[in-house]
Amino acid sequence: MLLRSITRSSSPDSTSLFFRFFRQFPRSYISRSSSASALGISGRNTRLLSTPEDAGRQLFLRRGFRLLSAASGGLNGQLSRLSVRAFATQPAPSYTGQDEAEKLGFEKAREEFISECKSKAVLFRHKKTGCEVMSVSNDDENKVFGVVFRTPPKDSTGIPHILEHSVLCGSRKYPLKEPFVELLKGSLHTFLNAFTYPDRTCYPVASTNTKDFYNLVDVYLDAVFFPKCVDDVHTFQQEGWHYELNDPSEDISYKGVVFNEMKGVYSQPDNILGRITQQATYQALCPENTYGVDSGGDPKDIPKLTFEKFKEFHRQHYHPSNARIWFYGDDDPVHRLRVLSEYLDMFDTSPVRDSSKIEPQKLFSGPRRIVEKYPAGGDGDIKKKHMVCLNWLLSDKPLDLQTQLALGFLDHLMLGTPASPLRKILLESGLGEALVNSGVEDELLHPQFSVGLKGVSDDNVQKVEELIMDTLRKLADEGFDTDAVEASMNSIEFSLRENNTGSFPRGLSLMLQSIAKWIYDMDPFEPLKYEEPLKSLKARIAEEGSKAVFSPLIEKFILNNPHCVTIEMQPYPEKASQEEVEERNILEKVKASMTEEDLSELARATEELRLKQETPDPPEALKCVPCLNLSDIPKEPTYVPTEVGDINGVKVLRHDLFTNDILYTEVVFDMGAVKNELLPLVPLFCQSLLEMGTQDLTFVQLNQLIGRKTGGISVYPFTSSVWGRDDPSSRIIVRGKSMVGRAEDLFNLMNCVLQEVRFTDQQRFKQFVSQSRARMENRLRGSGQGIAAARMDAMLNVAGWISEQMGGLSYLEFLHTLEQKVDQDWEGISSSLEEIRQSLLSRNGCIVNMTADGKSLTSTEKYVGKFLDLLPDKPSGGLVTCDARLPLRNEAIVIPTQVNYVGKAGNIYSSGYELDGSSYVISKHISNTWLWDRVRVSGGAYGGFCDFDSHSGVFSFLSYRDPNLLKTLDIYDGTGDFLRGLDVDEDTLTKAIIGTIGDVDSYQLSDAKGYSSLLRHLLNVTDEERQIRRGEILSTSLKDFKEFAEAVDSIKDKGVTVAVASQEDIDAANKERSNFFEVKKAL
Ligand SMILES: [Zn+2]
Repeated sequence: MLLRSITRSSSPDSTSLFFRFFRQFPRSYISRSSSASALGISGRNTRLLSTPEDAGRQLFLRRGFRLLSAASGGLNGQLSRLSVRAFATQPAPSYTGQDEAEKLGFEKAREEFISECKSKAVLFRHKKTGCEVMSVSNDDENKVFGVVFRTPPKDSTGIPHILEHSVLCGSRKYPLKEPFVELLKGSLHTFLNAFTYPDRTCYPVASTNTKDFYNLVDVYLDAVFFPKCVDDVHTFQQEGWHYELNDPSEDISYKGVVFNEMKGVYSQPDNILGRITQQATYQALCPENTYGVDSGGDPKDIPKLTFEKFKEFHRQHYHPSNARIWFYGDDDPVHRLRVLSEYLDMFDTSPVRDSSKIEPQKLFSGPRRIVEKYPAGGDGDIKKKHMVCLNWLLSDKPLDLQTQLALGFLDHLMLGTPASPLRKILLESGLGEALVNSGVEDELLHPQFSVGLKGVSDDNVQKVEELIMDTLRKLADEGFDTDAVEASMNSIEFSLRENNTGSFPRGLSLMLQSIAKWIYDMDPFEPLKYEEPLKSLKARIAEEGSKAVFSPLIEKFILNNPHCVTIEMQPYPEKASQEEVEERNILEKVKASMTEEDLSELARATEELRLKQETPDPPEALKCVPCLNLSDIPKEPTYVPTEVGDINGVKVLRHDLFTNDILYTEVVFDMGAVKNELLPLVPLFCQSLLEMGTQDLTFVQLNQLIGRKTGGISVYPFTSSVWGRDDPSSRIIVRGKSMVGRAEDLFNLMNCVLQEVRFTDQQRFKQFVSQSRARMENRLRGSGQGIAAARMDAMLNVAGWISEQMGGLSYLEFLHTLEQKVDQDWEGISSSLEEIRQSLLSRNGCIVNMTADGKSLTSTEKYVGKFLDLLPDKPSGGLVTCDARLPLRNEAIVIPTQVNYVGKAGNIYSSGYELDGSSYVISKHISNTWLWDRVRVSGGAYGGFCDFDSHSGVFSFLSYRDPNLLKTLDIYDGTGDFLRGLDVDEDTLTKAIIGTIGDVDSYQLSDAKGYSSLLRHLLNVTDEERQIRRGEILSTSLKDFKEFAEAVDSIKDKGVTVAVASQEDIDAANKERSNFFEVKKAL
């Protein structure tokens, strides 16, 4: 599973795609569009801990035709095409600058109008270097630039990944420590990051502001071609690895950002399986094949990397002859070439273009089997923690688009929804608890198909393998039923039409699709055009029947394909500590081999690096990073058109926005009447609504009906504190979308889901429980910072407590006991689910939110009315008063891990702080300076940041994949002094303000605008208040920073601490600070 890239999730946990930095969305587990900026006023306040929704969307998305889809990640992130606006308006004018292109040194290789994305695309070749440039023009204001190098590694020392981190640490024109961070702080970017694939490295940026966009482009171009890191060993040490020795009497340790990032990756069983799969699928016959090694770096191999090799890799690969460059959006196409020629003209041609080619892997002649051990937690039934996964390399030659499309379709049919047969049969078998590593992957040279289960007991491993093969054979023999094919077809077509990439820029999504072929010297235009192959696939299915289309694919690519690799992963509790011991031994040997002088030299070098890291850039250097002026910033927030009215006595919000004929709707119910003890059942209740079936429809039929008629329905809880109020906003949201012409079906199905689903299927419910448990355990290992944040919130306020019951450690504990209870008292559980429904469903307190163009809003009103009339008309009373919290205490949650997640939080309102817009600027500044420098750069953690929830007043510090524990807490405690000692000049302040406005104004598609407006309504955030906060943000002064120090000090003195960490580190901390932590074992 090398390439599970952003298609699958936009989180940096994606297994083989490495991001430069960890984007912190600690609390909003669900959608970025409901995080900070969507609400336009606050830090990430929405505690959407819901899991089924999350899962449901993942399933839906995951298979949404990956070859077309590429990079989703947003709320409805689907396939990626152009801006919604592009459908409404004329395509951009034809490209006329051919003469200018010639003058600038480019020749036009090809030009096409791509109707799927209403864009003019021109492929240029830079004559002197051979660098290829795709210049895509349309009317999308969210402009995208990207430069991509082919960077196949030969070993697992992580060179491409460390280089990806390092080139953004200062360059010829921008000679400061981290221009990248300056851009993070002070630009209006809608996307800014960098990522490493197994065979390539991408540097994309995006912005809607043209001046800002070209600032970003210039910093990135200068960074990749003229980085300082090749002359400065310190960057290599900081981002890659180095020996750290503070005092010759102490032990030596390894430090480095990538080193720790990869330790985190290698602490997660799913990730380990992914890496082993990749390596085993390629390695054996062709040991030199680049996919047989880890481009991210294996923590065991990273310390073998030398500075010399690192420099040489840059010299060879970061050359225009090895680059592919992408421009997209509504900016001037000639200007693009002008900017590029300044850089490219400085180079000559290089033979790297040929030498970096990825060598194809020949198919194996027969199946193989690999057995590996992985570090599992010591508790629970260790025998039940096996993972098993079957993988096929589908072809050693590139497949035509038609076949790829059919394979994507087949993938969706087999695994795409809970009703899909392969998924359903595996999960219902009871042989394992959740799917792992499953689906078609086609972003690397060879497409691959995998399917597997985790949570398998050792004596069932064989049975899982047989069941997978039998099911595939059966599907090939019997085919798929017509409703399933129709449902998949509709889901895929809906996605294409909707083209909803969530918060991910559409142009970037297109770039990643195009690059997936272009990087292998194939046609970069082809992946952008799906209309013809889709039409002919549909025609074939209509003429020959789906069986004639899909059965031969299963036969050829899976059943009769000799290149099948089976991976079994066995749990091995001692592995983590064994690895620690091995590392310790190596470091002891290193120390023993050193003389006294060597040791004092090392201590001196450690100190030198630390000093360098902690010395701020001089103001003159900072000035060289281009930045907007405050006068470039609009004074008013973006308003979403909102009309508040009612239909049959129920409040309805209408947002008149262009949506390309799609209706987006949310129906919100008040959760206030649900009893406290039933809260942990709510996520499973939501899942049951969508996946349990009614009297007349099995869940498969219901699911297919939703797939055939709509663009999807989801149900999930939403909880947040409300500023100035004691009681939280606690709701269940039912979200749906469909073509406007199908609105009646949409509301009928939403009604069916809410009122007719029966909670009778004990076996299915049991699966939900074990899947949820597996998912929570994964989250605990991979996103421990979220678990820690939720835990601290639960100590500090009611909304936090409610959320933690439905998605935190308490929820995981609940799931453990529930697993037993399903067998002993199913009746009781079933009636509790019914009780939740009774407490919830009422027209009173219900709110409907609708987003579409005005005409469609009017024409669909009658269906809303009918839907509302069917809801019970109970009095809304009977609210359960809830003042529950977890006891305040410092807690350490033990998990098997090599890296920690450290949190500390407090409510700054209770220390007397009064909300002011400047707090957003200040907390962003703390994250981007103090915490970035100390927790990440010198501490060696992958991420360190703070988060202010302005609704509750909770201010939290969090770290991500952190080698330290107490040391990080000391850094948090030093924040007040940092603020008091701060001396920010005008430029720095302006940058901080602009960066904050960039968050607040983040780019949103229409559905996200309507949704954010709903959330603001639920949280009492008015447009007047947004205007006030914006004014406060824009007028933030140094005085505000100094005053904020007091609020932060209250956390130092009275805050709570929660760490998710290894047993060793917790023991050491408790020894050093006389039992500071109460210890809780979780995995
Ligand atoms: Zn990284």
